[in-house]
Amino acid sequence: MKKDGCIFCMIANGQIPSATIYEDEDFRAILDIAPAHKGHTIILPKEHFDNLYETEDAFAAKILPVAKRIAKAQKKVLGCDGVNILQNNEPAAGQTVFHLHVHVVPRYNDDGILPVWPQGSYAEGEAATLAEKIAKEV
Ligand code: AMP
Ligand code: ZN
Repeated sequence: MKKDGCIFCMIANGQIPSATIYEDEDFRAILDIAPAHKGHTIILPKEHFDNLYETEDAFAAKILPVAKRIAKAQKKVLGCDGVNILQNNEPAAGQTVFHLHVHVVPRYNDDGILPVWPQGSYAEGEAATLAEKIAKEV
C-alpha cells in the first residue's frame, strides 16, 4: 500500500525524481538530500510502512542484502574507511520521515560525524533480570 501525501512513497515509486543508485521490485535507494558524507544513501521500500515494526519478517529480511550491496559499492567508489547501517524508529530515536528507510552512511577514519552514546552500566544482577524480562517478549 502507498500512503497519500507521503513524499518517500512518491520518490520510491518514481513520481518524484531522485538520485537513484539502486532499484528492484521492492526498493529504491537514493542519495540522501542532506548527506552526512557525500554518497550517504537511504533505502526506501516501494510500499509504505511507517517504521520497521510494521513490516513482515520476510520483507524486513530483504533489506540487509540491499544495504550490503550499497555499502560495498560505497567502499569501491568513495574509498570510505567504514559504513554505518542505521534505521530510526519513532521521533525519540531520531526518525523525521515516517516512511521506513535505512541509512547507508560512508564513514572516514576520525570523521567524528556521529555521536557515540554514553557508556552506561548495570548494577549487580540487573542485566540478568532485564535480559530475562525482554527475552520473554522477543
Ligand atoms: P530520519 O531522520 O531517519 O527519518 O531520516 C530522514 C532522512 O531523509 C534525512 O537524512 C533527510 O536528509 C532525508 N530526506 C528527507 N527528504 C528527502 C528527499 N526529498 N530526498 C532525499 N532525502 C531526503
Ligand atoms: Zn510512504
